[in-house]
Amino acid sequence: MSEAEPRAAPPIAPPAMVRLENILDKVQAYSPATDLTPVQRAYVFAAKAHRGQERRSGEPYLSHPLAVAEILADLHLDVSSIAAGLLHDAVEDTRATIEEIRDLFGDEVAGLVDGVTKISKLPLSTRQDRQAESFRKMLLAMSKDIRVILIKFADRLHNMRTLEPLPETKQRAVARETLDIYAPLAHRLGIARIKWELEDLALRYLDPEAYRDLQARVAKKRAEREGEINELIAILEGRLEEVGVQAQITGRPKHFYSIYKKMRNQGKEFDEIYDLVAVRATTDSVKDCYGALGIIHTLWKPIPGRFKDFIAVPKSNGYQSLHTTVIGPRGEAVEIQIRTHDMHTTAEEGIAAHWAYKEGKAHPDPGDKSFVWLRQLLDWGRDLKDPQEFMDTVRVDLFPDEVYVFTPKGDVKAFPRGATPIDFAFGIHTDIGLHCVGAKVNGRIVPLRYELQNGDIVEIVTSPQQHPSKDWLKIVHTPRARSRIRAWLKNAERARSVQLGRELLERELRKLGKGAAPLLTPEALAPVVERYGLGTAEEFLASVGYGKVSPRQAVGKLLPEEAEALVEAEAAKEREPRERRPVSKVVEEGIRIEGVDDILVRFGKCCTPLPGDEIVGFITRGRGVTIHTGDCPNVDGLTYDPARRIRVEWAERQRTPHQAKILVTIGQDRPGLLADISSAISSANVNIAQAEIRVTEERRGVNTFVLEVADLKQLQAAMQAVRKVSGVVGVERIRGG
Ligand code: MN
Repeated sequence: MSEAEPRAAPPIAPPAMVRLENILDKVQAYSPATDLTPVQRAYVFAAKAHRGQERRSGEPYLSHPLAVAEILADLHLDVSSIAAGLLHDAVEDTRATIEEIRDLFGDEVAGLVDGVTKISKLPLSTRQDRQAESFRKMLLAMSKDIRVILIKFADRLHNMRTLEPLPETKQRAVARETLDIYAPLAHRLGIARIKWELEDLALRYLDPEAYRDLQARVAKKRAEREGEINELIAILEGRLEEVGVQAQITGRPKHFYSIYKKMRNQGKEFDEIYDLVAVRATTDSVKDCYGALGIIHTLWKPIPGRFKDFIAVPKSNGYQSLHTTVIGPRGEAVEIQIRTHDMHTTAEEGIAAHWAYKEGKAHPDPGDKSFVWLRQLLDWGRDLKDPQEFMDTVRVDLFPDEVYVFTPKGDVKAFPRGATPIDFAFGIHTDIGLHCVGAKVNGRIVPLRYELQNGDIVEIVTSPQQHPSKDWLKIVHTPRARSRIRAWLKNAERARSVQLGRELLERELRKLGKGAAPLLTPEALAPVVERYGLGTAEEFLASVGYGKVSPRQAVGKLLPEEAEALVEAEAAKEREPRERRPVSKVVEEGIRIEGVDDILVRFGKCCTPLPGDEIVGFITRGRGVTIHTGDCPNVDGLTYDPARRIRVEWAERQRTPHQAKILVTIGQDRPGLLADISSAISSANVNIAQAEIRVTEERRGVNTFVLEVADLKQLQAAMQAVRKVSGVVGVERIRGG
């Protein structure tokens, strides 16, 4: 393997000109009984017609039809297709006519050449309006004979392979069109081999820098992992032979464009894409596919959720295979595909495989999935007069990884499959995304995690109080939404840290008997942060909030002399006999904390403890002590280090009320019910801080109340009172938000 770092994409060397004999040999090999005369005569005709013409590279023009014919021979197509491949540019670029071709080669070849010529004349463009019309004409041109599109693919493939001599603007235009029209169509027809090469070549011209970068990184990664893959293949081959499963195992290269697309669409880094190196097992029978799968899963641990059975449930373009990802012999993930030889041919050649020469089988199977799709599409194409309408129909089928939805005004928006209303909201405007509370799809309220479907009309509901949460990151599918949410969360965390830093400093200063306010203004902080090189006043407060700087250290910087005096005083207190020191002290939130004097206390948002609940405390870095109920799931979970746990208890006297939330379920609504619930709550001397009334789809009422209570006992009394109200079927306390 070459170690040289590629500086620029090396120019694709023009391949040696294909000779007629190469093509004849190939056809002979897969179709020994066929009369090759039409191919020989087509060659002579094309050579005469293109005499004197040159390609931009300076080569004789004939090299192009010859290369196209060879690609068709590699797809094992019939003699008529190969002859038409040789003649495909003759009518367009020379003085030859379609009538001449019909006279010399018959209706079948003439029909193919005519179809290809018609497509070539289409002003194909990627501008949406013209793209629709072009697509339609292209499909109509090939509707008479699908081989037309196969010849057109071969033509485009060779043109892409020899794009180098063209001026840059032309290169980009051809590459764009290839990526927008030809590659998706090749994919839909299942011709993976052509699709991948078209995509990789297009990327090379559309984003040369990314292409070069990927090329270098993939080569490096392959070299790194070559040993592991070879080891895996050797182990697998040995084991399969032992149990008598026939299979050929090969390393499988990954295509640049598919990596590029994954990084773009899923916002992933190169290193996060772990199926860069993959292995393929090809077997004789379906039984052996599953046999090999079983062996693989006993040898190496499969990664859950990565196994896909496309044999039992083929993809819509006819693709069949088993996919699994396992932890390989050296502990790294390896993707493995298992399929029969026939499935492999279909996967690589798709619809072309059906036109390939087969002994005793002249015509493709009309029931084949790709044909059904194509025929349907062509029927629609004939019915739909409006090119845009046709395009919308086709697009859904050509780009199965995308969904198309509408704004209430009727604008179309495209999203990756799996996108949610949050993606849609950020797609409209960042502010709408940041305040999105829900969505109406086709007039019905849907949850934020709803998966958008083709044709949905989506309307976003916003509220100024709503803000993004971390959970949103799990359900969004667009890089735009993800980056906006991350930015917002980062900002919010910073704002919280500044606030917390300020509180911690205020406490520390209070111990010194200093009023905090004048010391913590930006003006007062400015000289301090400047002297110590601490950035801005806000950054200084944030660093205390994050726990990077302790409040004591921070005060030491603000008031060096007073802080030193305090340290002295505390040291003196430390020397006092133990018994004289208070064991615990009530801090202002109504909590006693073992051995701690004065500390910031927060209540867990997850369990919202009330006086009366059993509680535990955890020392959190830079955030004082957080109080949870004893049965809070976060206590036993992974959130806290048990070493940070401290004993806490409720003080006898509570100075401030606590908030608690209850959920009241109503069986049958009746006039005055809400008023009765409210007065039941008041009868227990409890205030209602907030109420929210909802009606479920079954027309049941679900009401949540936020109550201000002194303790658990008072909450229970209020709940008991509500339970007695007629019409109420359930009352429960809700923990957390
Ligand atoms: Mn051509």
